Amino acid sequence: MSSSAPNFFQSVQSYFDKATKFTDIDAGILQQIKVCNAVYRLNFPVKIGNEVKVIEAYRVQHSHHRLPTKGGIRYSMHVNQDEVMALATLMTYKCAIVDVPFGGAKGGVKINPWDYTEEELERITRRYTSELVKRNFIGPAIDVPAPDYGTGPREMAWIYDTYRTFKDNEIDAAGCVTGKPVSQNGIVGRTEATGRGVYFGIREACSVAEDMQKLGLKPGIGGKTMAVQGLGNVGSYTAMISQDEGDVKIVGIGEVEGAIYKESGIDIHDLIRFRKETGSILNYPGAISFGKEEREKVLEFECDILVPAALENAIHADNAPRVKAKIIAEAANGPLTAEAEKILLEKGKLILPDLFLNAGGVTVSYFEWLKNLSHTRFGRLEKRFNQRTYDNLISYIEKTTQKKVDDFERTLIARGADEIDLVRSGLEETMINAYHSVRDIKLSKGINDYRTASFVCAIEKIADDYSALGIFP
Ligand code: GLU
Repeated sequence: MSSSAPNFFQSVQSYFDKATKFTDIDAGILQQIKVCNAVYRLNFPVKIGNEVKVIEAYRVQHSHHRLPTKGGIRYSMHVNQDEVMALATLMTYKCAIVDVPFGGAKGGVKINPWDYTEEELERITRRYTSELVKRNFIGPAIDVPAPDYGTGPREMAWIYDTYRTFKDNEIDAAGCVTGKPVSQNGIVGRTEATGRGVYFGIREACSVAEDMQKLGLKPGIGGKTMAVQGLGNVGSYTAMISQDEGDVKIVGIGEVEGAIYKESGIDIHDLIRFRKETGSILNYPGAISFGKEEREKVLEFECDILVPAALENAIHADNAPRVKAKIIAEAANGPLTAEAEKILLEKGKLILPDLFLNAGGVTVSYFEWLKNLSHTRFGRLEKRFNQRTYDNLISYIEKTTQKKVDDFERTLIARGADEIDLVRSGLEETMINAYHSVRDIKLSKGINDYRTASFVCAIEKIADDYSALGIFP
């Protein structure tokens, strides 16, 4: 990436400015929507071995127009104030697009999590959480963290446990963090949620015949080829669900150790097993391997859909001209720089922006928070009732038609929804609605790209909130 290129935060702000031209919102309100409301930068000591290590960390709450604020915590050496501010900003708009009633936030701890033992990570996580509690920067009604790059259910369980030790008698304490293990007040389907949401978003985009025609592609996700950069949580679930449920052919995968390409298709489950066994995706049978130095080649593979699912700024001005995919599906946050986006749009590519495409994670986090506040799992009350109603209906049809429904079909039809069914159904509904509300704005306002339309969608909803709150005239 050239050094004169805008950084991630500047890119996000430039997208915002571009979008405001398509709204007629008061300049003051726009300014309030744009700025980060609160930035907490902290340093805290943690004993690592015989040494005391001072750790740099952040929590940024971008917007308080709805509470609590919401967003993941990332553990990475790339963490810096601008990055956390950019990510918190994206969370606000992301939540607005998918109608998740939260403001945006993000946290970051500047460590390489793979350099520490589990015990050390626990110490770091608990100390970071204690600092947030002390400053009132966490709580089910205040600010609710979740996993992000370098963190997962394990860290969320530590956060929840630490919070509980401070807030012993807070009845809704479990809602202080989402992405917890299911056994620790988590929700089933949260781990796969971002990848599943990415899949639903791509599937919906591919179902619009008119848009596919413009790209020279057939409508429908089935049979399309896909390359995925990053086999972390989001990348691996996107690939698995696209292959299993969408009949997509995975032709390329990129990871830290390199990239592989196989025109006839890679079975993603088999590749994940292979990587577990050998420690690498390289030399996967039948695939062409590119070593560490050439790992970015995955972004240039011949395919219909490219899914950057790693970190920000993966596609920049230098490599954008070599991207061959017609659809770029942003599973990561900010994988395209503003310059790259311009180049790709000029070439007529369809870019599905992070802002709505990877909102599946926060959507299911919202379901988890609702579950925590209601103190019961979804489906508990109505599952058996629905099952019995369908069963009665089948019996009635059998009686009136004198035809027997076989046992297999009966169990298929006469069932009530489990938590996982409801979570997936709620996520599917959310992603389909989000896609079409953004597409409608794009068409009605004559906007050229989905990112700008997504920003307009978010900005208009947040501005509405401010006027409803009576904060602005
Ligand atoms: N870290 C995820 C994101 O960037 C999830 C946030 C959440 O669940 O609150 O969207």
